[in-house]
Amino acid sequence: MKLATNSKAAQGTRFVERIYRLRIAGLGLGFFCVASVFAQQHRGFVLWALLVFHGFFWPHVARRAALACSVPSRGERVNLMVDTLLGGFWVVAMQFNVLPSVLILAMLSMDNIAAGGLRLFARGAVAHVLGLLVGLVTLGFIFAPISQMPVVLGCLPFLVVYPPAFGLTSYRLSLELAQRTRELERLSRTDGLTRLWNRRHWEGLLADEFERCRANRYASCLLLIDLDHFKRINDTMGHPAGDAVLQAFADLLRRHFRAGDSIGRYGGEEFGVVLPGATLREAHAVAKALVQRVREKCKEASAECPCTISVGIAQLTDDISDYHTWLLEADRSLYQAKTTGRDRIVVGGFAPVQEAARG
Ligand code: GH3
Ligand code: MG
Ligand code: MG
Repeated sequence: MKLATNSKAAQGTRFVERIYRLRIAGLGLGFFCVASVFAQQHRGFVLWALLVFHGFFWPHVARRAALACSVPSRGERVNLMVDTLLGGFWVVAMQFNVLPSVLILAMLSMDNIAAGGLRLFARGAVAHVLGLLVGLVTLGFIFAPISQMPVVLGCLPFLVVYPPAFGLTSYRLSLELAQRTRELERLSRTDGLTRLWNRRHWEGLLADEFERCRANRYASCLLLIDLDHFKRINDTMGHPAGDAVLQAFADLLRRHFRAGDSIGRYGGEEFGVVLPGATLREAHAVAKALVQRVREKCKEASAECPCTISVGIAQLTDDISDYHTWLLEADRSLYQAKTTGRDRIVVGGFAPVQEAARG
């Protein structure tokens, strides 16, 4: 819960920083639009001072204020409304000079939509009207919409620079989102402890392999591997030590199998491996090597995996109608390996051949 809250705060902070950079660019360039009109109107000190404050100081004040809020993104939305309100005010102050007025209102609307969708756009429209009213009450109504060449030139930097800067920010955001989506997808497929495929994803890979094998008629084998008497490790060394054993065993599996083999954590201390293209003989050989490797390693002092393993193997044969049955066959073999003494391999399928790995 705390982690979720922290990541939300981090997201809010990133949002504030993103808007901060855009605000510096937008208000800094917007200053010249309004200033070009003010220069023609010979406006007084107060309006100039307010314009300079809004153009060059407000972005820093707004950032600080938003970051000081308990929910920075909410504080930032309030700041956007302040921008929008002032936008309406500048339109009246510029006596509705058409080019800078339309430009400022359009850019502010674009910012609001990007930050909060249609809802913030609608709130922004209300803020625009409020700003217009404040302007009309304090400055009065004068309508002089014609934009002279100096005003057009004053608006050009904003017109040319701001939209690409905005586009770049949106593009970077979409890249960040795509990367996060990929990361989330990866996390949803992997087991948190061992970083192997989790059961759901691994079963999906098994189902895919079943279909491919059926369509292209090649050999394929499935291994179910279970740590022997694992509960004793937990009972004697503690649960964290048990976790470390599972991680060490997962590393061993990663090293032991080929890159094309699909290894998954099927249950607590049970693992599944799909061996595409492997004949029964090949699958047995690779399982036997694994059982021996684990047996030898478990005898070492301070062994990372101080237990043996049992393995059930099932080859995909014509009698197997779906991947569930394939899995059931491997599970039956594993069960036999357990009931006949553990630390061994049993090969199953519809024409079972049983072999012990010992000796
Ligand atoms: P067998 O040889 O019959 O497989 O005996 P076992 O003790 O290995 O099997 P059992 O099913 O009796 O116990 C499995 C234990 O694995 C019980 C459970 O607490 C433990 N376990 C399951 N998942 C985890 C895990 O993520 N971490 C740890 N440390 N233990 C786990
Ligand atoms: Mg076990
Ligand atoms: Mg088990």
